[in-house]
Amino acid sequence: MTQPLLKLSGLGKSFSENRVFSGIDLQVEAGDRIAIIGASGSGKSTLLRCINALEKPDQGLIEFGNISLATGQANGQAYKEKDLCALRQRVGMVFQQFNLFPHMTVVGNVSEGLVTVRGMSKPEAKALAIGELRRVGLEDKADAYPSHLSGGQKQRVAIARALAMSPEILLFDEPTSALDPNLVGEVLGVIEQLANEGRTMLLVTHEIGFAYHVANRIVFLADGGIYETGTPDEVLKNPKGHLTQQFLADHQ
Ligand code: ADP
Ligand code: MG
Repeated sequence: MTQPLLKLSGLGKSFSENRVFSGIDLQVEAGDRIAIIGASGSGKSTLLRCINALEKPDQGLIEFGNISLATGQANGQAYKEKDLCALRQRVGMVFQQFNLFPHMTVVGNVSEGLVTVRGMSKPEAKALAIGELRRVGLEDKADAYPSHLSGGQKQRVAIARALAMSPEILLFDEPTSALDPNLVGEVLGVIEQLANEGRTMLLVTHEIGFAYHVANRIVFLADGGIYETGTPDEVLKNPKGHLTQQFLADHQ
């Protein structure tokens, strides 16, 4: 059996008295495209943020190849800096609100991490960044500032920025939720293209039709954990649990 790329075991996270989830077990294999769906507040963002170590879970274990992040009260201290750096270099995240640096040009946004984290020379980083911008169809916007871009273009820049770091897993947190409906398609098109290239991704989305089309596995979060999981046909076409059925009825 091949080693999973990412393994979550018994993962749990609370914010003071509010237990968001517990007992999350999830194995991500190379090439998996996992869509995470669930009602607002079910913990989708928190789960992605735990995987990217933007939040520290209080229960369970995150294993990413040779990186192992033990959580829980017995390990109440912060993660080791070296593990955090290693993890963040291997995981790329795309946020709902793009999170571009407004004072930097498009190519500056995409090359920044290559210079500061990877230690690349500026010309080398710029050349690589232009290549990633070409991939998302925005090479001609390299010298523009984010404020001059549409929401869909901003999100494509954010995707190029994540890709520039050559992550092993891409995390998308509702990448089209902040967009005008007419701009959703261009961003979903880029994500679909990445899926077709065999990239490993976890995608939080309310676009159920897109999830059905692009994912090989669905994770439905409800009731403080993974309530139902399986293939798109199993979960989206023949849901077993009543909360899954209810959620899908509300998201037709
Ligand atoms: P989703 O992304 O599914 O809408 P979230 O992961 O954002 O859900 O939130 C899950 C729960 O955790 C919600 O009850 C939310 O209020 C709470 N929560 C999320 N982030 C924080 C935080 N930084 N501090 C306190 N509570 C939080
Ligand atoms: Mg969220």
